[in-house]
Amino acid sequence: MKKFLAMLLAVVMCVACMTACGGNEAASSDNVLVVGTNAEFPPFEYIGDDGNPDGFDIALIKEIGKKLGMEVKVENMEFGSLVAAIGSKIDASIAGMTITEERLESVDFSDPYYDAYQYVIVSIDSNIATFEDLKYQNIGCQLGTTGFYIADEDIEGAKAIGYNKGVDAVNDLINGRVDLVIIDKNPAMVFGEKFSDKVKVLDGAQFGFEMEQYAIALPKGSELVGKVNNALKELKADGTFDALVKKYIEGNE
Ligand code: GLN
Repeated sequence: MKKFLAMLLAVVMCVACMTACGGNEAASSDNVLVVGTNAEFPPFEYIGDDGNPDGFDIALIKEIGKKLGMEVKVENMEFGSLVAAIGSKIDASIAGMTITEERLESVDFSDPYYDAYQYVIVSIDSNIATFEDLKYQNIGCQLGTTGFYIADEDIEGAKAIGYNKGVDAVNDLINGRVDLVIIDKNPAMVFGEKFSDKVKVLDGAQFGFEMEQYAIALPKGSELVGKVNNALKELKADGTFDALVKKYIEGNE
């Protein structure tokens, strides 16, 4: 009897462990595409009213999933951990992610789907207007982003202060803990509107920031790259892509 109970216990523990560990299992089965994002980047990704990630990127990847005949599962994670998770915890990432040389060392990108620029948010009474003015400032940015690297590497004497959420950087601007925020154009516009009595948004072109391009990050050498590119082409040709731009992005510009 004792032996039987011990065996039963072992079986129960084993099943419990399998259930508990299942959630960590690496991404893809053939018809499920696990996609990582960071839902702190409106209008591309944010938490919708139902508590789930929503936004342009989320809608786009779901449409791509339909074209590929795959169910899309979205995992919300920190922006800075997305690239390293591709190919293990997630199959792909869509996160307003700029194609950069550094990221290309570890992932492949789809064709670009959106042009982006870094913008500057300052307090409403700030005189900041030129690249010169950015020097020796405390600059709030989202951790692991191109905006962070500009502040950290390209601006003399500036101190880059990283936040997990862009909105927290903007809150610290309002509190006076940072002098400005560097963040992508579209979230900058959203935050600028949300806090329009306290901050103003400046076009990155006046600081000489270069254009960036968003693309979907995929495992190096993955056959998904071609498939995703074909799906993107089809969605552009059949009007779905433009409809999503209208729904999620226009009106925030
Ligand atoms: N486009 C920027 C980057 O790729 C920021 C993206 C984001 O914060 N979601 O680094």
